[in-house]
Amino acid sequence: MSIALKQVFNKDKTFRPKRKFEPGTQRFELHKRAQASLNSGLDLKAAVQLPSGEDQNDWVAVHVVDFFNRINLIYGTICEFCTEKTCPVMSGGPKYEYRWQDDLKYKKPTALPAPQYMNLLMDWIEMQINNENIFPTRVSVPFPKNFLQICKKILCRLFRVFVHVYIHHFDRIILMGAEAHINTCYKHFYYFVTELNLIDRKELEPLHHGQRDPGHPQQVC
Ligand SMILES: [Zn+2]
Repeated sequence: MSIALKQVFNKDKTFRPKRKFEPGTQRFELHKRAQASLNSGLDLKAAVQLPSGEDQNDWVAVHVVDFFNRINLIYGTICEFCTEKTCPVMSGGPKYEYRWQDDLKYKKPTALPAPQYMNLLMDWIEMQINNENIFPTRVSVPFPKNFLQICKKILCRLFRVFVHVYIHHFDRIILMGAEAHINTCYKHFYYFVTELNLIDRKELEPLHHGQRDPGHPQQVC
């Protein structure tokens, strides 16, 4: 990690508080194990594979929470440069426009300034991962039937944070010396979602040279 990024981390500019796993729980152990294999220099492609004997939902749960914490921090480092003026619409370049939809205020897909979209996105994800019925912390509580479906939606939305940061704020990232860190985080994320088939390929296009009609809004996820 670069010195500049360490300073950013030390300033604790986390966009919002981290959700952590309770030490001693099975999920905490799995989280530690995933971290250890990453730090051991193992390649990321191998590190994302479900360890034999482990439950896929547990594996997905620890990764979703971990990616949320990391991506949240990444956006936190540039959020002061992402304003309604610089980013009046949440997008990934001119080709990809993202619209927000939820069960609360925005029942129809709505174009919003990026910072507003990001706030809603982070709030929404936080609400999901802090919901005991969706992300149970006790082993005795099972995951809901639609758990993977919810995680797919979370990951799809987190991917859009990467798209926006890469396309609109990468100059800032370079200035902060955080490029290598973010590239690694993205690579890890990308290998994970493709290994377990958690994000539609079409959704990945903006960072993988996809072709779409100019100005075509993306599907809401
Ligand atoms: Zn922005």
